Parts: sequence; structure tokens; C-alpha cells
Amino acid sequence: MISQIELDRLLTDRKNLLMIAGPCAIESESQIVSTAQYLKGLGSHVIRGGAFKPRTSHKTFQGLGEEGLKLLAKARDATGLPIVSEVMDTDHLNLVESYVDIIQVGSRNSQNFSLLREVGKIDKPILLKRGFGVTVAEFLSASEYITSGGNERVMLVERGIRTFENSTRFTLDVSAVPVIHEKSTLPVIIDPSHPAGSARYVEPLALAGVAAGADGLMVEVHPAPDKALSDATQQLTFEAYSSLYEKVGKVASVLGRQL
Ligand code: PEP
Ligand code: MN
Repeated sequence: MISQIELDRLLTDRKNLLMIAGPCAIESESQIVSTAQYLKGLGSHVIRGGAFKPRTSHKTFQGLGEEGLKLLAKARDATGLPIVSEVMDTDHLNLVESYVDIIQVGSRNSQNFSLLREVGKIDKPILLKRGFGVTVAEFLSASEYITSGGNERVMLVERGIRTFENSTRFTLDVSAVPVIHEKSTLPVIIDPSHPAGSARYVEPLALAGVAAGADGLMVEVHPAPDKALSDATQQLTFEAYSSLYEKVGKVASVLGRQL
């Protein structure tokens, strides 16, 4: 398992892009472990997977909860890669923290100030996603709820905002990358999957994010996207992620960075 020092080096190294990937939701042991092994083989750095899912409808798959976290931990055991999963509320914070290396706060909780205060007291890195109706200034203010509590290991994730455009699920705000870099020293990660909504748009959005100077990517990858229990249309197959990975490497090298 990765040490705290190695993890910090990975998260703060601006020369190497941080590649976070994995399924939207953890669904089964074979699904998460096979994905993690594939990603490890490719050279990805962190495995993602949701156990507590913030679904728009309560009638859809809500995630496996603690069982999902156990399976995600098995993926870490199988690969040695650090794992990240979302915490949806303060009630589950201790539970999620006990399993993962990095804690994700999702778009819908971007301004849940009581949750942000609580993760600010934790000694683990936080992946804070931008609310889809939140300005960059508000996003940065939200991040300060965490850092002012003493936890300065925060990564900011641009994952698309809501605009009048509806040909994609959300609108990726690429301009957030240079703007945040100007105003903050925190790393900026692009999630191209949720704004795309469709697998075929994920790669171009990822490349745009890297070209704009993002410090990393978080991409949804599933062994059989069409059978996924959540976000089926936007998750990449292993092959599609390999293609993205290779092209990202080329764009990164133009900017003097590497994977
Ligand atoms: C996720 O990354 O699993 C997720 C739910 O994304 P967001 O919070 O950005 O909608
Ligand atoms: Mn998702």
C-alpha cells in the first residue's frame, strides 16, 4: 500500500499529471478489481469508485454503501494503488475515511459547509468537486472551509457547469483551469466524464483540460459500460481509456509534462 509521503508526492507533483480513473459506482468485486488491474497496467495512479451515490432519482441504484468500500479496498490490495470515494454526508464520514486514501466531496455537496468543515479536520487529501451552479470565486471560498480547518491537501475538480447548452450533460468550464491557477495554489483536476454525458465526447474534453494546464484528470472507466448501473452512457471501455491515455501523454509532453 502507498505511504502517506508517496501519496502526497503523487498529488502535489506538477510535472506528472495525476490520472484518476475507475467506474462511476462500485458494482461487484470482479468489476472493480478487474478495472483497477487494467488501470494499474496502463499506469494510472488512483482508482475511483462510488459507494454512496448522489443519484438524481431515489429510484435508481444508490451504490453498495459499506460493501462497496470493502470491494474498493480489495482493488487497492490487488494493485497497491490508492483509492478515492465520495462521502455524501457527515454521518458517513468516519466510515468512508476508514476505507479510502482520498475523500471525494461531490458536486451536489460543493457548498455543504458543515461537511466541508468536517473534512477540514481530517488528515487525508480531499477531492472537492465544483458545484454545477457555483462560480469559481464561490468554489475557491468553499475550498477555504476545508483548508482553514487545517487540511490543506485539497484538489479542485472542474466537472462541468449548467448552462443553456444542452447538447452535452453539462458544459466543461475549461477556463476555470487558468483562472483557478491564477488565484490559488491548489491542484486543478478535470473530470471530462460528467460534462460529456456521452463516452464519445470524453476524450476531446480530457485533452482540452490538459491543454489548458490541468494538473490531472478523473475519468469514468467500466469493463462493460452498457451494463453499468449508473452513468452508463459516459463511461469509457478499457480500449477507449487506453486511447485517451496515449493522447493525453502526447498533449502533456507539449507542455513539458508527463503521465
Ligand atoms: C462522481 O464523480 O461520482 C460524481 C457523482 O460526480 P459529480 O459529483 O461531479 O456529479
Ligand atoms: Mn458518475
